[in-house]
Amino acid sequence: MAEVKVLIEGYAREKEGYYEASSSAVLIKDSDKKIIVDPGCNEELLLSALKKEGLTPNDIDMIFLTHYHPDHIINIRLFPGKDILDGDIIYRGDKEFEFKGKIPGTEIELIETPGHAYEQVTPLIKTDHGIIAIAEDLWWWEDGKQKTDKEGLLSLEDPFVKDKDALRKSRELILAKADYIIPGHGKMFKVEK
Ligand SMILES: [Zn+2]
Repeated sequence: MAEVKVLIEGYAREKEGYYEASSSAVLIKDSDKKIIVDPGCNEELLLSALKKEGLTPNDIDMIFLTHYHPDHIINIRLFPGKDILDGDIIYRGDKEFEFKGKIPGTEIELIETPGHAYEQVTPLIKTDHGIIAIAEDLWWWEDGKQKTDKEGLLSLEDPFVKDKDALRKSRELILAKADYIIPGHGKMFKVEK
């Protein structure tokens, strides 16, 4: 069974004159592969969380990006030379290799979940505790504002939404499939069935 560990719990807060945010960064261990989903943009938090796991960036096999927003991506610079994946392409330097359905070499299923961003994909991971969806910005909250009742989850406003109907459908799909959800900015929560 795969293991999932939240390395950075995503946050988002208004400061004086600027905004402070990093995405959730998640480590998956599956089939002897170590994968980071959305490494975020806080270098210090990511490196210290890896260290606690007894890992350095060099131990990571690949970085998976759910979508292309910089607060989810900037830390890829800590992993030079590593494979970068989106929903259907492995980027290895200037080489691109297509794939479909699962992260290659793993049992991690990828679900297309457009809405917040057109390209967004959600990894589903089977673990001993149930199915975990790394849904990232299908749901995100500013610090202290997280609400996880079902209606609240479906109606949550997203100021950056690209396609409202698609976002709702993607949310319904992931709520139906997942036992636990890791949001882009906020705490992992259990899905009420
Ligand atoms: Zn985003």
